Amino acid sequence: MTETSLRKQLEQARERIEELEEELAKAAKATCEDRYRMVFENAPGGMAIITEQGNILLSNAEAKKFLGLSGADGERNAEDFYVNREDRNRLLALIRKKRHIRNYPVLMHRLDGASMWASLSARAIDYGGEPANLVSFTDITEHRRALRRLELDELRFERLYALSEMTQHTEKEILDFALEAITEVTGSEIGYIYRVSEDQTQLTLHAWSESVMERCSIKDVPEVYSICETGLWGEPLRQGRPVITNDYPNLKKKKGYPDGHIPVRNHLGVPVFEENRVVFLAGVGNKPGDYTEDDIRHMELIMNGTWRIIQRRRSRAELAAAHAELEEKVRRRTDRLQQVNRELAGLNLTLMSKDQEREQARMELLRYQRIIETNPDLISLIDSDYRYVIVNESYTHIFGLKRESIVGQPVGILFGSRYFEERFKPAIDRALKGETLTEAAWLPLPDAGERYMSITYQPVRVQGDDAEYVSFEARDMTDLKRSEEDLKAIAERLDLATDAAHLGIWEWDLRTDDLLWDRKMFDLYQAEPLPPKELFDFWRGCIHPDDLAATEQQLARSIETKEPLYLEFRIVRADKAVRHIRIEGLVQVDDKGMPIRLIGISMDVTEQRQMEDELRTLASTDPLTGASNRRQFMSRLGEEFERCKRYNTSLVLLSLDIDHFKRINDTYGHPAGDDVLKELVALCRSTLRTTDLFGRVGGEEFQAALTQTRIGAGENTAERLRRRVEQCEVRTHDQIITFTISIGVTALTPDDESIEGLLKRADDALYQAKRSGRNRVIVL
Ligand code: GH3
Ligand code: MG
Ligand code: MG
Repeated sequence: MTETSLRKQLEQARERIEELEEELAKAAKATCEDRYRMVFENAPGGMAIITEQGNILLSNAEAKKFLGLSGADGERNAEDFYVNREDRNRLLALIRKKRHIRNYPVLMHRLDGASMWASLSARAIDYGGEPANLVSFTDITEHRRALRRLELDELRFERLYALSEMTQHTEKEILDFALEAITEVTGSEIGYIYRVSEDQTQLTLHAWSESVMERCSIKDVPEVYSICETGLWGEPLRQGRPVITNDYPNLKKKKGYPDGHIPVRNHLGVPVFEENRVVFLAGVGNKPGDYTEDDIRHMELIMNGTWRIIQRRRSRAELAAAHAELEEKVRRRTDRLQQVNRELAGLNLTLMSKDQEREQARMELLRYQRIIETNPDLISLIDSDYRYVIVNESYTHIFGLKRESIVGQPVGILFGSRYFEERFKPAIDRALKGETLTEAAWLPLPDAGERYMSITYQPVRVQGDDAEYVSFEARDMTDLKRSEEDLKAIAERLDLATDAAHLGIWEWDLRTDDLLWDRKMFDLYQAEPLPPKELFDFWRGCIHPDDLAATEQQLARSIETKEPLYLEFRIVRADKAVRHIRIEGLVQVDDKGMPIRLIGISMDVTEQRQMEDELRTLASTDPLTGASNRRQFMSRLGEEFERCKRYNTSLVLLSLDIDHFKRINDTYGHPAGDDVLKELVALCRSTLRTTDLFGRVGGEEFQAALTQTRIGAGENTAERLRRRVEQCEVRTHDQIITFTISIGVTALTPDDESIEGLLKRADDALYQAKRSGRNRVIVL
């Protein structure tokens, strides 16, 4: 082979190598780009490259799925997806300052209109010579919703709790509070409450929420509506159940609203019942999402609570009124007794003077006359021609006439002849025939008006005189009569009032031990009427054994001090039902100040007590797991902390959190996640002692305070709990879920001035447990 051909071959080989190297380099570059592209496409979160103007240059599958994009990139502008423009402006401003944005939460709409929460990270990059932003994001919608649910739960508990404490407020204040509460807990923009008339035909506005008042420009809103005039918002009343309307603008058959009314997107109306009657109509509107059964439940809880509290206030007011009536009745009765005593004394006096008169009549005619003269009663002697023969001073005094102008005149001159014929003549005639008669009548007297008089007609025969006379005596009984009538009216009113307020009335005679009950009392105890002698023992037998001693003690105390009696106790009725009874009573004393009688009222307050208990439980527990909620736990931890400080006892705090709980939710679904939470609470309950405190302080975070426990024992308990959780299997819908928890443990030290330090140490320990691999206990 010649040198030239060799050279040529070498030359060709070199060229070939160069060609191959070039191809190789190209191939290498291509593989590298493909890899980047693959990573970009398959990244577990959404990723996109966006120009400063918002053009989406490139987006991966996750991003397309999240935003609902289809087709090629570049058709959409990022701005379309921000619910709030300010978010985008703020992000751009940060990027321009070369800031790296991490985990910025933003609310976005998808193309199908749904709103989603994204946690966004972004930085500026050089994209093939063009400035652009690399944006990555993850879907945190579920997380935000769970947080929001917790917030709303907490809010609802607070409102319910506050409501249960409002019994001293006015009805208006209670309703105002309820209105703001239903608006808040349903996350609504507007709300209102209407009262419904008893005959269910009219609605009267209580109030609209403040947010409505600020924005509404309708003038002269009618305060009262007829139900048949109402459109959609009257539906809950007509249908007798809550009504949700989630797309108001597209609703067919709607009446619309007047100009100036706030635009309505959605609406929820709830009727509040008292037995079969609707008492309130409450409504909310313009929630950012859809109204659900949960909103109905929350609204009903608050509105029913509100109605109970209003009822409680009303029955209190009725009770106070009935109480006042009762006091008044006792006062009147005492007054009447005193008056009757006085009358009796007066009567005795008159009787005595009459006796004297008879004894000394003949001997002391003058004195006799004097007595008749000065008697305050009208006393006269009438002859058979119906003429006055004698009249006493009361006549001249009352009729303003001189004695001479009356004596010798017919009886009709003073009372009118017609009145005489009808009222007096028949009686005088009977007396003239020898009869003594007494009657009571209203007589018209000058100046004094109609007076109620007891009149006695008596035949009088004077020895040695053949003529016949009638003595006429009239005694003014008006005051006595009026007090009797008042008493009757009061008794009737009292009956009405006690009926309306469902009150029973009782009277206990301390000298005979007789106990009197009215019909309502027997209703309250569901008992058949019993004789007064047996009733006291029956009553004692009804009282719940646990309340008997305290009840008897208070009764004795009231009798001893003579102070009004206020008592509450439980009874066990024949049907075994336990009822709460409240009684109020007054002690009556005799004129020596000795207690002789107790009079009082009783009412059944069972429903009120139950409602209060229910509200209290709802306000302090988490509805999902039944564990104490954060507020309840913190408040009890605060108390426990004070006790430990005072008595120098030990305390261990556990902070626990489920590991990778989000993954459990993502894999098995949210309801399964809920079951895991419930199982964890059950495990904690059976591991901890009953004296330990335990509560759900966050979504999947719990705390436990072990009382009178040292750090070593606390750590053992935590470790035992961790192991039990690890071994536990939760079965939901044919799936078996296992899970683990991390626990931070710390003990109270003498340096801890408040619970803050303690809580922080427990959280730091928990954080370390997470960082060092989870499923473990760390003590700090
Ligand atoms: P780590 O191990 O770091 O604690 O991870 P994690 O996933 O448990 O932590 P992270 O705090 O990020 O997630 C908590 C999740 O708990 C997010 C939220 O959706 C979920 N969650 C909160 N409350 C509830 C609830 O009431 N029910 C259900 N099913 N999930 C809830
Ligand atoms: Mg967790
Ligand atoms: Mg957590």
